[in-house]
Amino acid sequence: MLRHSRTLIPFNSNPATQTLLAIPSLLRACTRLEHLKQVHAQILLHGLQHKHLPLTKNLTLQYISFDCIESANLSFRTIQYPCNFLYNMIIRANATNGLFHRSLKLYFEMMDRGLRPDKFAFPFALKSCAGLSDLQMGKKIHQHLICCGCSNDRFVDAALVDMYAKCGCVDSARIVFDRMSVRDLVSWTAMVSGYVHNGCDGETLEFFELMRWSNVKPNRVGLLSVLLACGHLGALRKGEGFHSYAIRTGFESDVLVSTAVIDMYSKCGSLDVARYMFDRMSGKDVVCWSSMIASYGTHGHGREAIVVFDLMINAGVRPNHVTFTSLLSACSHSRLLEEGRRYFESMSEQYGLTPKLNHYACMVDLLGRAGRLAEAEELILTMPVEPDTSIWGSLLSACRNYGNIDMGERVADRIFQLDPTHAGYYVLLSNMYAAKSRWSEVERVRELMAERGVNKIQGFSLIEFSNCVYKFGAGDRSHPQSEDIFSLLDELAAPIRHLGYVPLTDFALHDVEDEMKEAALAYHSERLAIAFGLINTIPGTPIRITKNLRICGDCHNVIKFISKIVSRIIIVRDMNRFHHFEDGACSCGDYW
Ligand code: ZN
Ligand code: ZN
Repeated sequence: MLRHSRTLIPFNSNPATQTLLAIPSLLRACTRLEHLKQVHAQILLHGLQHKHLPLTKNLTLQYISFDCIESANLSFRTIQYPCNFLYNMIIRANATNGLFHRSLKLYFEMMDRGLRPDKFAFPFALKSCAGLSDLQMGKKIHQHLICCGCSNDRFVDAALVDMYAKCGCVDSARIVFDRMSVRDLVSWTAMVSGYVHNGCDGETLEFFELMRWSNVKPNRVGLLSVLLACGHLGALRKGEGFHSYAIRTGFESDVLVSTAVIDMYSKCGSLDVARYMFDRMSGKDVVCWSSMIASYGTHGHGREAIVVFDLMINAGVRPNHVTFTSLLSACSHSRLLEEGRRYFESMSEQYGLTPKLNHYACMVDLLGRAGRLAEAEELILTMPVEPDTSIWGSLLSACRNYGNIDMGERVADRIFQLDPTHAGYYVLLSNMYAAKSRWSEVERVRELMAERGVNKIQGFSLIEFSNCVYKFGAGDRSHPQSEDIFSLLDELAAPIRHLGYVPLTDFALHDVEDEMKEAALAYHSERLAIAFGLINTIPGTPIRITKNLRICGDCHNVIKFISKIVSRIIIVRDMNRFHHFEDGACSCGDYW
């Protein structure tokens, strides 16, 4: 202790020449950063930094080895003509410390000085492009490395795959990947996470299988990606397979993996299994608690979400901003107005957390659902953060649900000022007019959309069957069983009407253009997916559907009737929440 903390070089006690001789060996002997800084001070004191290149070079390398990047950069700057090796080292050090701009600047500086970057520089220049999501720069460096003959190096190629995947160019990443002769785990993982980040969930699953067939043992990131993809797709059977894989490979004890498993079960509609896994899990952190609360929220079990929140507090885990987003949105989904208000206030009062935009958004949603439209508008206008389109959007859907056209028009104006291109809001406004049979205004909205070049998002629904995920669009006849699917829907039409169904044609705009509204409605994507499920699965088993848009009011009605007629539980996850249809009713209480 005493030996380590003493000053290495007593000031003024050695003659200058002796110090000069001693410095290089002292520099090599430094085992602590503070010693290194003392030696650095001596170098500066004797003005050696510009005179002795090997000394400054070693100093820079020592700083890099201590991960003291700022000092390394300062010391590097005093070297007049750094060599290739030094450039490689400093580019690498900056990139691994997240200083991506600096790393790239040094890379180009190296080239400007006529030095040729090599296989030690490229991976880190590419890593910097990935970190900045700068695809153009990444492509430029790709060209450089081809010119320098480094395109067949496994580390360079791995970095290329990672760069393309992180910059959203999964196809290019795949081309490089397929060309590689030796693929390491890093490249496999980069591809899997590239697919899932770019929303290619089906490809994620396929690629993960390929990885296992190729005898590559996936790591945690790969497993997390694939569980996430299963959740997005609602692919429960596949998800179960990956869960058992996680158990077999010992990943289950990892908190992140367990949390992802729980989240996967919940997203696939198996809330009970999610809770079972959650209760068995030890060492739950705030992320895990928050995700369980969020699961109850999206399934419409607000009270259960509150119970879990209380358990969390009792377990001594401190809630964070994410926890409150989950909790408030759970209150909102279950229309627990008073509870929501109380928790919103407790954020700052009890837990010292300043509410952010998404917490205000939850409150606006909560007030909107409770029909407190004026209060919701007031909150948006007075909140200390700048409102965005989605917060206005949730008020707009509340206006639609409560038929308040005056406020709806006002709110839509605000939204179109902020973002004139989002199709969903035009649809909401148009449906609001349609509900009051104000057809000329419906037409006006349609013209506005055409004028501004707004395209509606195509609706689709997914269903997993026999280890595959099937995708249906509205009126989609591409599936080999489509004849059976359409005739089943036609057969169901009579008993549905018999139970008192009247089509709500104003919702037709959601998925398709008007004309033949009723016919179009009858073949919305979720209905096709449900019919497919009814045809192919054993009677009595639940049917699980995932839809990319909000489920329309008419489909919601029809699915309620179908659940009664065929005595099946039908679980539909739309973009907002879960709907559990059973015996003619839905868990959302017809408000979503
Ligand atoms: Zn529909
Ligand atoms: Zn519902």
